[in-house]
Amino acid sequence: MGKLYVVGIGPGGFEHMTFKAKKAIEESDVIVGYTKYIDFIEPLIKDKEVLSTGMKSEVERAEKALELAKDKVVSIISTGDAGIYGMAGLILELKKDEEVEVIPGITASSSAASILGSPLMHDNCNISLSDLMTPYDLIKKRVELATQGDFIISLYNPRSHGRPHYLKECIDIIKKYRKGDTPIGVVKNALRDGQEVTLTTLENFDDTIVDMFSIVIIGNSGSYIKDGMFITPRGYKL
Ligand code: SAH
Repeated sequence: MGKLYVVGIGPGGFEHMTFKAKKAIEESDVIVGYTKYIDFIEPLIKDKEVLSTGMKSEVERAEKALELAKDKVVSIISTGDAGIYGMAGLILELKKDEEVEVIPGITASSSAASILGSPLMHDNCNISLSDLMTPYDLIKKRVELATQGDFIISLYNPRSHGRPHYLKECIDIIKKYRKGDTPIGVVKNALRDGQEVTLTTLENFDDTIVDMFSIVIIGNSGSYIKDGMFITPRGYKL
């Protein structure tokens, strides 16, 4: 009897992977995943069958993993958390009677937050700027309502070649409601090779430094910068 683990491997570096994720990968006969993510776990999978595919074939990859899991132990890999813009949802939507276990990982907003300071200390939300599966009008509506609700906002998939202006347009929406000195942090390749960190304010923000390996975190109305750290107060009386 086989099994499918849907594994969130965290941001990339081994020390940020859970023991459970490592164990599931080690236990597996077959590893399925996007080529770049497979590279992150290379030392763990030397003796295993590996099926790596390009980025836009998620459905094919999920179907293949489920088919293999009928009689083998299989891990399908997502970076960060498998249940946050990862493979978990698709696998569960397609699943019939295969055994599936979802293993959580540290998502990009948590990784980036730890580097920037403590930006996510109050109510916060994730918004993906990818319009592959969400109409852009709905993305902009979510950005607007999240800003009106004073949420701290983490923007995933913030800026790609195909839609270079979305980030700037969304920041302009946020600027309608938030002060110019609101902190905004950009972390590229958080907690893995190539990490780059920029901490600035809404009025000084340059969207062209952002790419698809970056996450952007915008503070709420109470967030501030102290000694180079992005802080959102929880509300304790000091
Ligand atoms: N499942 C992943 C998210 C996948 S969506 C998670 O939970 O983190 C892909 C987007 O996530 C990227 O475009 C980027 O915005 C963000 N991302 C993933 N890993 C990152 C990292 N190490 N550093 C910065 N951003 C990252």
